[in-house]
This record gives sequence, C-alpha cells and structure tokens, in this order.
Amino acid sequence: MTAKSAAAAVRATVHGYPRQGPDRELKKAIEGYWKGRGTAHALRETAAGIRRANLGQLADAGLHEVPTGDFSYYDHVLDTSVMVGAIPARHRAAVDADALDGYFAMARGTQNCAPLEMTKWFDTNYHYLVPELGPDTVFAADSTKQVGELREALALGLAARPVLVGPVTYLLLAKPAPDAPAGFDPLTLLDRLLPVYGEVLADLRAAGAEWVQLDEPALVQDRTPAELNAAARAYRDLGGLTDRPRLLVASYFDRLGEALPVLAKAPVEGLALDFTGPAAANLDALAAVGGLPGKRLIAGVVNGRNIWVNDLSASLATLGTLLGLADRVDVGASCSLLHVPLDTAAERDIEPQILRWLAFARQKTAEIATLAKGLAQGTDTIAAELAANRADLASRAGSPITHDPAVRARTAAFTAFDARRSYPYRQRAAAQRAHLKLPLLPTTTIGSFPQTGELRAARAGLRAGRIDPAEYEERIRAEIQEVIAFQEKAGIDVLVHGEAERNDMVQHFAEQLTGYLATQHGWVQSYGTRYVRPPILAGDISRPGPMTVRWTSYAQSLTTKPVKGMLTGPVTMLAWSFIRDDQPVGETARQVALALRDEVNDLETAGTSVIQVDEPALRETLPLRAADRPDYLTWATEAFRLTTGGVRPDTQIHTHMCYAEFGDIVQAIDDLDADVISLEAARSHMQVARELAAHGYPREAGPGVYDIHSPRVPSTDEAADLLRTGLKAIPAERLWVNPDCGLKTRGWPEVRASLEHLVAAAREVRREV
Ligand code: GLN
Ligand code: ZN
Repeated sequence: MTAKSAAAAVRATVHGYPRQGPDRELKKAIEGYWKGRGTAHALRETAAGIRRANLGQLADAGLHEVPTGDFSYYDHVLDTSVMVGAIPARHRAAVDADALDGYFAMARGTQNCAPLEMTKWFDTNYHYLVPELGPDTVFAADSTKQVGELREALALGLAARPVLVGPVTYLLLAKPAPDAPAGFDPLTLLDRLLPVYGEVLADLRAAGAEWVQLDEPALVQDRTPAELNAAARAYRDLGGLTDRPRLLVASYFDRLGEALPVLAKAPVEGLALDFTGPAAANLDALAAVGGLPGKRLIAGVVNGRNIWVNDLSASLATLGTLLGLADRVDVGASCSLLHVPLDTAAERDIEPQILRWLAFARQKTAEIATLAKGLAQGTDTIAAELAANRADLASRAGSPITHDPAVRARTAAFTAFDARRSYPYRQRAAAQRAHLKLPLLPTTTIGSFPQTGELRAARAGLRAGRIDPAEYEERIRAEIQEVIAFQEKAGIDVLVHGEAERNDMVQHFAEQLTGYLATQHGWVQSYGTRYVRPPILAGDISRPGPMTVRWTSYAQSLTTKPVKGMLTGPVTMLAWSFIRDDQPVGETARQVALALRDEVNDLETAGTSVIQVDEPALRETLPLRAADRPDYLTWATEAFRLTTGGVRPDTQIHTHMCYAEFGDIVQAIDDLDADVISLEAARSHMQVARELAAHGYPREAGPGVYDIHSPRVPSTDEAADLLRTGLKAIPAERLWVNPDCGLKTRGWPEVRASLEHLVAAAREVRREV
C-alpha cells in the first residue's frame, strides 16, 4: 500500500479510559455495596451506566474504534486472573458461592482469607493484584466479562476492540503461589495458558470482534533471551490459530528494544507502540527493522500519562514518518488513559488560560481524533485546531509561570559544592553525638501520628467553611500537644509533631509552593476504589515562605527533647505529581530541591537539630530499563543532597523509605549522604539491615521493628528480638529503633501500646550491649 492510501484509512482510537465516572460514581457504588447499602444489581447498573457514558464520550469525540473490557470493578489484572480461571485455592469457595463477592474477596481479603498481594503497575502509581500461580494451577477460560462488554459496545453500533492483558505480561507479573516449590517460574505455565487465551479469542470472534488487543507492557523491560523466546512462541501459537480475530499486540511505558523485532516478525496483524518520552526511540528502531509491512500500527503519539496538551504539529510529523513504515497507521494514546483524570472542564479554580495547557482523558481523545483527521484528510482540514494548539503551546512556553527568571538564575548558579555537606559523614556523626547526646539505640517514629476521624472532619469543615481558620488551628495545636505529651511519657528520644495539619505528604507542600497546581476533580485510580489527585508541577518552583517551621517550632516549644522536622523529599514530590514535559526532569527536581533546601535551612535556624526528608519514592521511580537508571540516580541523589546540603555538621539529616527491596540501590542510598535512614523491615525480619550491611553501608539506620501495615500490637519480646537480629548486621552505635513507616493510618490505642513496647524493647536491649 502506498503512503497515500494508508493515510486515507487512518482511524482514531485509545487503549482504555478512566473507569470511575465523572463524579467517582463507581467508587461510591462499590463502597456502598461493601457496606451493605446497595445491591449487586444496583452496582452493576451503575457500572453499565458509566461504561455507556464512556463509550458515548469516545464516539462523540470522533474515535473510530473504541476499546472494551478495560472497565474494571477493581483491577484489570485481577479481571485477567478471573478470565483465565487462576483463582487461588483459598478463594475458590468464595468465588464459587458468589462471583462478585469472591472477586472482592480476592482483592481485599476476608476475615480469614488474605487478599492477593498488590504492587505497582510498572512505573505508574496504579497498583494491580499480583496473580498467584503454581505448578498445580489449572487454567480455564471465562470470557463472560470480555464478551459482555464487547456486546454492549456493538449494540451501540460502535466498532469495538476488546483489550486484554497479554499472556506473556500476565505470567511475568505473576508470583509463585504460597505452596509452589522454591524457584518456581510462572512463565513455565505459558503452554498451559495459551489454549485458554485461544478460547477467549474464539469467543470474542464469535461475539463479533474483528480485532482484539493483547497488552504486553512487560516487554518494554529488560528481558532475558528465554523471555523473548516465550513472547515469540506465544504469538506464533496465537497467530497460528484459525478461529480468531485479528490480533494487535500493544506495548507502552517505554521502548520495546530487543522485543521489537520479535513482535514485528510475529504472525499477528498489528502492533500498538508508544512514541512518547523514552519510548520515542521506537521510531528509529521501527525503521531499523524495516517497518511493519502488511501490519497495522497504532501510533501512541498522545501521552497517556501526563496531562499536557499535545504538540499537534510534532505529532503529525511523527505520524508522517510512520506512514511509510506500516501498512496502515492509526492514531492513539501512548497507553490507556486510565492514568490521567477525566476532564479539564470540571476544574473551576485553574485560570482559563492555564487550563488550556492541560489535556485530561477527554481532551486527549479530541487530540487523537484531530490528528487522525489531519493525517487522513490533510492538515488544512484541521487548520483551526492547529492554530489554537500553537497559541496554547506559545502561551505556555512564554508564560512567567513556566519561566521565572529568579528561579532560573538560582538553579543555574547552584554547583556541585552546594550539593555537598561541609564535612564528611564520620565527622558529622561525632558532632551530632556531642550535640544531641542521644542514648545508644535511640527511639523515634517516622513522622505521622493517627489521622483521626476528628482531624479529617475538621479539615473538611475548614474547606466547607463550617469552622474558621482560628478554630482549625486550635485543633491542630491541641493535637500536637497530645502527640508530644504522649511521646515524652512513653520515653521516646527523638520526637515528632505528628503531621496532624497535613492532608497528604505531597499535596501539603504542593499547596504551599509557587508553580504547583492543584485540581479539584483530577482523580486518578491508585488501586481499587482508592483515587488520588496528583498535583501538577506546572511552572518554575519557588517557596514564598516557610512551610513547616511554625508547627515544628510549636512542638519544640513543648519539650526539651529534640523534635524532628519533617519534609517530603524532591524525588517523591515529583513521583507523586504530574511533571513538566517541557524541560528535563532533573531540572524540575533541582527547582523543588532548592525550595526545600530553604525550608531545611529555616528549620535549622529555628532550632531544629534533626530533620527528616522522606524519599519513599526513590526506589519506585527507578526507570524500567537498566540503561536509564544511572542517569536517574544521578539527578535524584543530587536533588536530595541539594535539599539537605546547607545545614551545619551537627544538624542530623534523616531520610525514610518504605518497602523492603533495596539491594540494588544501596549505593544510591549511600549517595544521599544522609546521616540516618529508617526503612521498612518488620515483616522481612530485618532483611534490609542485612542488605545494608552486606553492601558495607556505613551510616546509622533504623530498620523498622513495628509493622504499621497491620493493627497488630507487637510485644516487647518481639520488638526486642527484631532488634537483636538487627544488631547482628548493624552495630549498636549505628542502630535506631523505630516503626516501619508513619502511623497516620493506625488507631491511637494500638499506636500507644506498640510504641510503649518499642521503647521497652530498646531499653531491654540497651542493657545487653
Ligand atoms: N513522614 C511520613 C509519615 O510518617 C512518611 C510517609 C511515607 O513514608 N510514606 O507519614
Ligand atoms: Zn514509609
């Protein structure tokens, strides 16, 4: 086919759409059902209504082909487990008794049955439920959901393409079931799984599917030759089936790399590729393999993960190049629009001019339709859209918000020297020992104390104008008094103010920094019925005034023990926000770091001797491809050092990270040049302490001895035993005693008892060393 005739057939489509409904109706319906306030029938009706409205929106936007099966009551990987019959034995009875309740039991657990484990979906902030597979797993096809949702779209007269998690990604995301033999590799189940996918494909074809999309994002990660072979085999087998729809294999979040030739050669009819960010490398790679002759390509040129308006001219240029590389080129988003909010039109507090810089899911579908039209019918037919787009891009590029000369001058002037503390760690440790005079095995907490219902109600009351700011402040002051009094009585050595005033560890700072935007309705699914509203790093970042000094100083005024200042670090501020796409991410990180550096310095000036800068996202933001990691770690650790590098040697800098697997970033943790790190360790029996020791980590560390993810109160003996285990890896002079993470999700009674036991354990073990 010539480029010209390929262009004539261009279609617009997406891989998926936000599931929650304009007002998070799905969340409300599901949570209502869980609480017994609504029937399963009512829930199904709400869900069907949302799907219908979404399909209507997609069709109205001008998409030629809509996705189906991307809807979910909880998670699309869990839906895939149901589709292939991979129900863990412990949930089988519940699923057999009632499919919907059994589904939620797998997602959330029940009184006597643990849920599936949950983990992050690649490098997004979406979490999926990890399939549990073993040598005894028996797969069985259940295409009810996929077929049902396909029929809904077909009944509306739409061209619909069911979207499934592909078999290779499904297995690569799975973990061995609890009773599987050591070393079991779920990928060995591929031959057993493929016939089940074959059945689902046949069912979808029978129901009227012309195309089916199989998502294989796991292939954008570094893969072994054996894994690439498995992908080749999977698509050779599925492609070889006779009773099947046309197959489109989708990848996203990064470039396909060595998996591209594998998929290009596979006997499938189409590929969907990401052409945004690091995945833009797919363009040259595609040319290098000779394109996709005879195949359909869905070109993901509209970024499905950020919220910025597309550069339509740039996308058209990419699409123009691609036209020569495939038989048929369609326009799409880089990935499902699940990762962005629904509609900018719902935002009332963002200036209209700035709102035009943003594109949420609804705006992105319009961009895709415009690009498809321009590609098919010529750019003259979209002249008005192109002109408006140029104006919006120019307004953003020329705005004082995105170019604050003072911020620019400051980041340009910073040097590696600023990102270094004035003395090396060992000398600082001695100065801090003399200054702080802490006992051996000092006790502390990670920052937050219980966010009680009253605190949340007070915050909601303040927002709604039911209580005035003075009254709200009085409540926070009273809370801090209680938190300090409790810690003193419990005998904790380094106190915290408890973070009562913070709604969220990122949003609280975003609201106080210039250059950050907050949304009112920008909800994005994090997991299940939990949605977050990530703030938007829209412009150059500066700090109009101190953000935490007042409450920290107030807390310090109540006690003679040191009160630890508490900040969210620059990497986490970026990781849990939408970031700029108009400058290198390291530049944004430097801006945030410099604003935080002022806060750190102000805290020190106000008399704070211990300052914690939380970086729970350092590990989770690691790029998907190993080749990209050194760069990331360079800017990430530098941003942390820039934040903390301006304090005196006797001011002690702490950092905190959650999650247990650190083996691969111990060097980066050391490069942060913090004095003390606290980490999650209670569930893994101090594994992280051994990892730090194995890498010769030279600094002080507090592997958690209290698992805060459970309401269980650890006994003194238990905590003491964990400490003794920790002491085998970290010498007493460098070991801290603390919980795994912040206490905001826990209740006061369990927190009181647990921390009393933690202090008792520290005292007991101190006598032994
Ligand atoms: N300081 C924060 C808290 O205690 C840290 C939270 C986190 O690590 N996610 O809540
Ligand atoms: Zn944590």
